[in-house]
Amino acid sequence: MKKFFLIVFLFFMSFIFVLPAMATPDNYLTSTKLNQRYYIRWDNNEPIRVYIDKSQVSLQWSDEVRKAFEKWRDALSGVMDIEFVSDAHDAHIVCTFEQVNKKPNMEMTLGYTRIIWERKDLQNRLGKMEIKIGTKKNSGSEYTHIAVYNTALHEAGHALGIWGHSPYYGDIMYPAIRPLSHTTRQVLTARDKKTIRMLYSTQADITHTHSNI
Ligand SMILES: [Zn+2]
Repeated sequence: MKKFFLIVFLFFMSFIFVLPAMATPDNYLTSTKLNQRYYIRWDNNEPIRVYIDKSQVSLQWSDEVRKAFEKWRDALSGVMDIEFVSDAHDAHIVCTFEQVNKKPNMEMTLGYTRIIWERKDLQNRLGKMEIKIGTKKNSGSEYTHIAVYNTALHEAGHALGIWGHSPYYGDIMYPAIRPLSHTTRQVLTARDKKTIRMLYSTQADITHTHSNI
């Protein structure tokens, strides 16, 4: 009888361990779409050019943003390249700093990314992505450089084309309202890396060179 219970126990245990592993996908590609419809990303025909403004903040801060992009560049290795430029006009992605949470309804915002369409009246061709990184808390005190890094890592994901959010807690692209660590660097999970690689291996609906919509 003991043996029977042991077998039943092991049988159920195997479900407990196997089912969650089967139920959790290794990517969130379908959550990256703009308006849940369109894959939007940079065309693979040239490296993605990133400009980071160094004039507004300490060099350490702009360096943190650069490090964040380098993590995504590593993740995209062999699929897509990212390079840094010193003129905003040459860039696909423009990163600047401001106290973003001063704006109405943005009290909880650490940073944000917006799409600049090539033509204002025609939202089917990507012009630029503009990232704003928050500099100060509502209280007026500055964010730590690690908080800046964590915010930049998330916003860089958006600017590269992960326009939605990951549904999985722990991924860097989990929705913006998450506990911000001021002392611990967040990382790209295996799922974040797989997702960005898949996105750049998937036919884009909207890019900066052409449109399929
Ligand atoms: Zn976000």
